Amino acid sequence: MNRVRPRFARLLLDVDSTLCALEGIDQLARAQGAAVAARVAALTERAMAGELPLERVYARRLALVRPDAAALARLGKLYVRRLVPGMARLVADARRAGVEVVLLSGGLRPALLPLLERLGLPGSALFAVDVELDAHGRFARFDRRSPLVRSDGKREVAARLAPAGGKSLLVGDGASDAAARPAVDAFCAFTAVASRPKVVARADHVARDATALRRLLRLR
Ligand SMILES: [Mg+2]
Repeated sequence: MNRVRPRFARLLLDVDSTLCALEGIDQLARAQGAAVAARVAALTERAMAGELPLERVYARRLALVRPDAAALARLGKLYVRRLVPGMARLVADARRAGVEVVLLSGGLRPALLPLLERLGLPGSALFAVDVELDAHGRFARFDRRSPLVRSDGKREVAARLAPAGGKSLLVGDGASDAAARPAVDAFCAFTAVASRPKVVARADHVARDATALRRLLRLR
């Protein structure tokens, strides 16, 4: 049999503007009106471009948005609807080829669970920021101690994972993805949704869509 082994044993995927064509926090902010939406989107863009550390904007954005259970559920559905074409199949094929797939996100964990289910991934494959709601489903607090609310958090989480048994590839669009490069074997800037020069400049590979990423992973 002429089987080609995948090039990487572990694939770490950013979610917002990589796996899915949206920024979750910006979507949540839209429900708060145009003024809040504009402020939050500007903070998100500056953080993803590496102009502001993520830890400087994370609490500010959530204080403006304060998502409740219903908002998180709506966002959960949107993540599934906005999957970038070809990415769900890529995840399935990568796993079939023996690649471990991990979602590494600065997004809010409850809103990412429907996506996890859609991709058939176990709960242990998702690293995201926990949120606490009160008894009425209202926003109470987020996990301020999560490394993923900081610009260098993805690097910290990736470094703590058990050895992959081969090479690991991190795929993302933002500054915090590029900053995790020392903890993985390669970083691929994914530009299908957002292309940022500073991130592309630090990348070992660039993929502009799922097809290009499949090629890099050596998936058929
Ligand atoms: Mg992203």
